[in-house]
Amino acid sequence: MFSRLLGKNVLITGASSGIGEACAYQFAAAGANVILTARRADRLGEVQSKISANWPKVNVHTATLDVRSSAEVEKVISSIPTNLSAIDILVNNAGMALGVKPVSEVSNEEIDAMIDTNVKGLLYVTRAVLKGMKERKSGHIIMMGSIAALTGYMNGSIYCATKSAVRAITESLRAETIGVPIKITEIKPGMVETEFSVIRYGGDKSKADAVYRGIEPMTAEDVAETVVFAASRHPRCVVADVVMLANGQA
Ligand code: NDP
Repeated sequence: MFSRLLGKNVLITGASSGIGEACAYQFAAAGANVILTARRADRLGEVQSKISANWPKVNVHTATLDVRSSAEVEKVISSIPTNLSAIDILVNNAGMALGVKPVSEVSNEEIDAMIDTNVKGLLYVTRAVLKGMKERKSGHIIMMGSIAALTGYMNGSIYCATKSAVRAITESLRAETIGVPIKITEIKPGMVETEFSVIRYGGDKSKADAVYRGIEPMTAEDVAETVVFAASRHPRCVVADVVMLANGQA
């Protein structure tokens, strides 16, 4: 089943930690070549070393990329080595939350950071990759959405808005590619324990932990398994939309 991923070229944004990093290992384990991007070069280097040690036949290319810059996105995508440049699968995973606080208290910087990363960055990367997919009439774009797209929650106005935008982009892309065999998938996880959990509370781990209210959160690996499952279906079928919750999460 996962043999369908053998030799595929998979571009993952936000591959330096959490869900993106877990996806990198699981795609590599399935024999896919991985193109890994994020801002932290040192962390990308660690992921690359681990993949080379465990799956030596897999091609790994890393590139530092801040998805908020359209110029950087275009440069990085056009600098992918020729043997990997035909992207079969894009995992649009880079994302963040900052300043989990009432709208009246949120700063311009926090608003911009979330919208620029989660919405504009995702659009820049999608635009840069989709062109080639349309020319080749093949490809798969997997969006890392969130259950935050389905409901608002206290102090989540900006983050929920960005993930609602991801949902809207996903559905619009699906309409845009009707009749073209390009797969579009959105995964909407609930609670996942990653660095994100602490970052969104400005480093306050006790606040981050309190969110779980005694529920065991999912792991990055749980989500990556679902990404790889969606990516490895038969060419004729698409896993279009997945909501994943921690067991016990409402
Ligand atoms: P992490 O913080 O572990 O990972 C976020 C990744 O995004 C990192 O690799 C980070 O890399 C990258 N990133 C952040 N900003 C940028 C940027 N401007 N340019 C490029 N890369 C960037 O958190 P998760 O793994 O949890 O998050 C991954 C995705 O999952 C996000 O889209 C998040 O919204 C989504 N999600 C997470 C949930 C959770 O509970 N954890 C629940 C639902 C969805 P670097 O800092 O090196 O750039």
